[in-house]
Amino acid sequence: MLQSQLFTKTQKDISADETSAGTQLLLRAGFIDKAAAGVYTILPLGFLALQKIERIVAAAMDGLGAQRVAMPSLVPKKNWEATGRWAGLDVLYKVKGKGGEEYGLGATLEEIVTPVAQKFSFSYKDFPFAIYQIQTKFRDELRAKSGLLRGREFLMKDLYSFHVDQKDCDDYYERVKEAYFEIFKAAGLAPITFLTLADGGTFSKFSHEFQTVTAAGEDIVYHCGNCGFAVNKEIKEDYPKCPECGSADFDEKKAIEVGNIFKLGTKYSAAFGFEASGADGGKLPVLMCCYGIGLTRLLGTVAETSRDENGIIWPQAIAPFEIHLIELEAKDGEANREIKKNAQKIYSDLQKKNISVLYDDRPGKSAGEKFKDADLLGMPRRLVISQKTLEQKGVEIKKRGEKETKLAGLDKICDYNFQDR
Ligand SMILES: [Zn+2]
Repeated sequence: MLQSQLFTKTQKDISADETSAGTQLLLRAGFIDKAAAGVYTILPLGFLALQKIERIVAAAMDGLGAQRVAMPSLVPKKNWEATGRWAGLDVLYKVKGKGGEEYGLGATLEEIVTPVAQKFSFSYKDFPFAIYQIQTKFRDELRAKSGLLRGREFLMKDLYSFHVDQKDCDDYYERVKEAYFEIFKAAGLAPITFLTLADGGTFSKFSHEFQTVTAAGEDIVYHCGNCGFAVNKEIKEDYPKCPECGSADFDEKKAIEVGNIFKLGTKYSAAFGFEASGADGGKLPVLMCCYGIGLTRLLGTVAETSRDENGIIWPQAIAPFEIHLIELEAKDGEANREIKKNAQKIYSDLQKKNISVLYDDRPGKSAGEKFKDADLLGMPRRLVISQKTLEQKGVEIKKRGEKETKLAGLDKICDYNFQDR
C-alpha cells in the first residue's frame, strides 16, 4: 500500500481520557478512532491487523471441527426470558421496535445458539458438534475507560460445543484449551498469558480464563510460583492455597482477560427443553460449553504489551504489513529519480513474493518525520532507500525494537529472509 494514499494520518495529540497506553498508541497511529467511550471505528491499518487476528482465530476453530455461522445481534426478548437473563444480565442493551417488539442486543449468544442447535439435533447420533461465530457484541459496561480492553461494542469469537457424554465434553474442552494457547502464541502473547482458574458457576467447579499480565490490566490474578497456574481474585478468597498443587506461594499481578472457557452443563439446554434421544430410547441431557475470545480486545492487548516509548511493535503474524519501505528524498533531482525508481522496484518485487509492504512514498517529508511515523506504526521491519544507501548499492534494514541496522544489496533484497533476522 502507498502511504501517500492512506486517508488516515498519525496524530500528535489525542484525548487525555484514554487510560490504556496501547489504545493511546493505536489512536495516535491512526489504527482506530474513538466515537464514544468504549466505541471505536477500526481504521484501515487497524482493520488489516484485526483481519489477521480473525484468520488465526478462525483457522484454530476450523481445526477443532467447529462450523462457522453468523448469528443476529437483535436477540428477541422471549429468548432472554427463557433463560432468566432479560432481568438477570445487567450489561444487556435493550431496544424496542416500532411495533413494540423488544430485543436485547447480543452480549453473548446462548439464547440464539441453543434453540438453533435444538432444531437440528434429536438423537445421540447427532452429537457432538460445535458452532462458532465472529461477530460484534454489545455490553452496557458502566466503566469503559480502558480503550479496546473493555469496549461497549466489540468484535468477539464465540464457540459453543454440544455433547451427550461427559467425557466427550471434557476432552473437547481440553482440545479448545490447547488451541487457545496456540492462538495466543501466534499473537505473541504466550509468555505472559496464564491459564487462570475462575469460578465455574452452577455446573462446574472451575472455569478457565486466559489472563495476559500487564500493568494496564483491570483484573488481579495470583500466579502460583510452584505450578505456573494462576487463580483469579474470587478463587483466591475461596482457596487460600493453589487448587492445582496446594502451594501458598502466590505472586499478585494485574492482567487482562483475553479469553475464557466455561462448562455450562445443562444450564441453557434445560432452559429450552433441549434433550436428545438415547440408544435405549430414553432421554439424554445435552451438555454445553462456551468459549470466548475478544478480537478487538486482543488487538488492544497486543498494542498494550508489545510497545516501547516510540510506538507499537507488532508481532510478525498480526502486523498490518510485514515491511515498511521508506524512500528518503535527495536534494538533487537526478538522485531523487534514481531513489524512486529503485524503491518502486523493491515495492513491486516484494509484493510479487507475497510480502506485504507499506511504502512511504510521501513527498516533502523529512527523514525524521518518516522514521518517527514508522516507529509509531510499528511494522516488524523497516527498509530505507536513500542517496546514501544507493551509493553503496544497498537498502538499509532495521528490525522494529532493535537499534542495529544492516545493509542488504539491492539485488539481494527480494531473497532476504525477513522471518529470521
Ligand atoms: Zn500451584
